[in-house]
Amino acid sequence: MSESARVAIVTGAARGIGAATALRLAADGMAVAVVDIDAAATGETVATIEAAGGRAIGVGADVSDADQVAAAVARVADELGAPTVLVNNAGVLRDNLLFKMSPTDWDTVMNVHLRGAFLFTQATQKHMVEQRWGRIVNLSSTSALGNRGQVNYSAAKAGLQGFTKTLAIELGPFGITANAVAPGFIVTEMTAATAERMKIDFDELQKHAASEIPVRRVGRPEDIAHTISFLAGEGASFVSGQVIYVAGGPKD
Ligand code: NAP
Repeated sequence: MSESARVAIVTGAARGIGAATALRLAADGMAVAVVDIDAAATGETVATIEAAGGRAIGVGADVSDADQVAAAVARVADELGAPTVLVNNAGVLRDNLLFKMSPTDWDTVMNVHLRGAFLFTQATQKHMVEQRWGRIVNLSSTSALGNRGQVNYSAAKAGLQGFTKTLAIELGPFGITANAVAPGFIVTEMTAATAERMKIDFDELQKHAASEIPVRRVGRPEDIAHTISFLAGEGASFVSGQVIYVAGGPKD
């Protein structure tokens, strides 16, 4: 099968890192399902892909809802073909210090990041196993190493690393790789919202972040899309179970 026949699902792809990844995978020759919780919000990403000569559909689904995920994957298989590339990117923040964090904020973050990745991977893997080929990329974060005010998010992002390594072990025999990309500071609406919550001007936050990053700049969604493109490509079949920090410097 040639790369042009690959079908990719990118969750949370209406904007930010997910949108950049959808554009990049389409430019790589894949047909892309642009999944987001709000179907209407996928329109811009789909239109940009189509304007560049690519193939895409917009699919509305809440990644934490099993029925919606099953319906979304079935629709993708029906309209684009068997999905064999999956990027679990949808994410939310519900930051707070531990003593102020509500159980609802804990559950929301676990449900979107962990349950969402589990549901989409489970629904998609059968297509990959049938094709004896697949690429799964999960979005972790430097926050997995610990970050004040993010006990829920850091637990979920560390959890995704363990999830990834186990997927690599279970699915490797079927020609399927699973890897995690762990971004540092990337300029998106998510980091803009963090600035707002911290009552810091977003430009100032970016300047401060850049001063602490070895390459002296903040990240762009395209930096992450580039790494995901590598992991999703034909040539990366011997890279599996890895966590790649894309943060302008080393993290451990
Ligand atoms: P973003 O701009 O907030 O985009 C996230 C997208 O996911 C939004 O379109 C959002 O839709 C969608 N989404 C949220 N909940 C969903 C659900 N239940 N089902 C389907 N879609 C849902 O975020 P981003 O900065 O691009 O981040 C993308 C991923 O990278 C996330 O997993 C994030 O944790 C991770 N990451 C980001 C950074 C960073 O610096 N930006 C760093 C490390 C890791 P709504 O707007 O409608 O909620």
